[in-house]
Amino acid sequence: MTLPQLPEEQIIQVAGFVADYISVQRQRAHSLAIPLSRPQTTSLSGFFRSDILNSTRLLVLEASRVENPPFYALLREMGFTSLPDFSQMAAITFSNVVVSHQRMTGGPLFHELVHVEQYRQLGILRFAELYVRGFLVGGGYEGIPLERNAYQLGERFESNPQTQFSVELEVSGWIRGGKF
Ligand SMILES: [Zn+2]
Repeated sequence: MTLPQLPEEQIIQVAGFVADYISVQRQRAHSLAIPLSRPQTTSLSGFFRSDILNSTRLLVLEASRVENPPFYALLREMGFTSLPDFSQMAAITFSNVVVSHQRMTGGPLFHELVHVEQYRQLGILRFAELYVRGFLVGGGYEGIPLERNAYQLGERFESNPQTQFSVELEVSGWIRGGKF
């Protein structure tokens, strides 16, 4: 895939658009979303900080889909192709609010909670910036390190849900190692 070589100030500008989109979507969904269930919290307590499990909210959309960002038209003009289609994804996490198109359990729920931990450590603006840079450097959605981290840990949990590990330490290790 060919992706545009953007000047630094344009990357920062796009990251700002993404951060605003995340904040707006988060705010919109938050009042409709509900906490994790007791069984969900119990099964995940050996992996996530309790403040993550207690503050995360879930919203399952039934009659609507997540809207793609309003600035996608502008990004296409800048030369972006194959932008992630959020309306077709199983779920997307806006800071501590997980919006999904189906009920989330197991590895997919775990994956989204890894994003909540990433947001906690990075903040929305830095998360957005690393997401955009990861998309450009990695050559698309699959190459975004924030996604690869979440997929890896989600798969590790799913293949062995009894063996606990700290998502907080995994994410901070990736940050310290400059892997995002
Ligand atoms: Zn993801």
